[in-house]
Amino acid sequence: MSLKDKVALVTGAASGIGKACALKMAEQGASIVIADLNLEKSQEVANQIIASGGRALAVAMDVTDEAAVFAGIDSAVAQLGSIDVLVSNAGVQIIAPIEDFKFSDWKKMLAIHLDGAFLTTQASIRHMYKSGRGGAIIYMGSVHSHEASKLKSAYVTAKHGLLGLCRAVAKEGGPKGVRANVVCPGFVRTPLVEAQIPEQAASLHITEEQVIKNVMLKDTVDGEFTTVDDVANTVAFLAGFETNALTGQSIIVSHGWHMQ
Ligand code: NAD
Repeated sequence: MSLKDKVALVTGAASGIGKACALKMAEQGASIVIADLNLEKSQEVANQIIASGGRALAVAMDVTDEAAVFAGIDSAVAQLGSIDVLVSNAGVQIIAPIEDFKFSDWKKMLAIHLDGAFLTTQASIRHMYKSGRGGAIIYMGSVHSHEASKLKSAYVTAKHGLLGLCRAVAKEGGPKGVRANVVCPGFVRTPLVEAQIPEQAASLHITEEQVIKNVMLKDTVDGEFTTVDDVANTVAFLAGFETNALTGQSIIVSHGWHMQ
């Protein structure tokens, strides 16, 4: 179980969970491709890895843009030699009650979470098959891959959809050594969640403290946020797991919010 000599591409790696996954896998010896909309911030993460003796590359990529995904992944493979691990992590959150949810926002959510996962999978798996070495594909799901919450219809739909994509990829990829799994975090205090606290307070007519205590962390075993390190450790474990024994699964990392 080693990431030495592996190349891992992480989407949405300029911030939050994706950044932590990139840094963790770099620590464990992988070369890292930071793929994000935000090239300047991606380059900063790449520079941080290079400064600590690792190998990293930043690529500008909108995961909903087919041409950009294929160009970014092909260029990463040309420069670093392979792609062995894909962490499909880029994501956003848009909340509103269903009766007010804009159709344009619904389409945007499904495009980033589902089209992005499909396109990055397709572009990566072709290289994984061609190399003959297989690989690991990890989707960033959520407790919302298994549970619903108010105001999050598009997010819950997209995150449930990732379970289906993961299982299909696990079945098709298995014979060629490609494993696929979903990591499902509870609430992690990243910019994505910081933005939701005041929005939910306004929509639900409660205070920000009540959003944290009574909405976000209500069902955890200890009232604690999940950390980016909790998620990154799980991703690195799956990335380094070498056999098909662990494929088509979802692992919930949520302080017991959801148990299955
Ligand atoms: P974040 O806002 O800190 O980071 C998201 C990153 O994705 C940003 O760098 C952003 O530029 C990038 N991104 C957005 N749209 C993109 C696109 N079209 N193409 C490429 N990059 C794009 O958010 P985060 O909390 O680290 O979230 C990362 C993932 O984890 C998301 O899929 C999110 O749904 C999931 N998640 C987060 C939490 C949480 O509580 N924070 C919980 C469960 C799941």
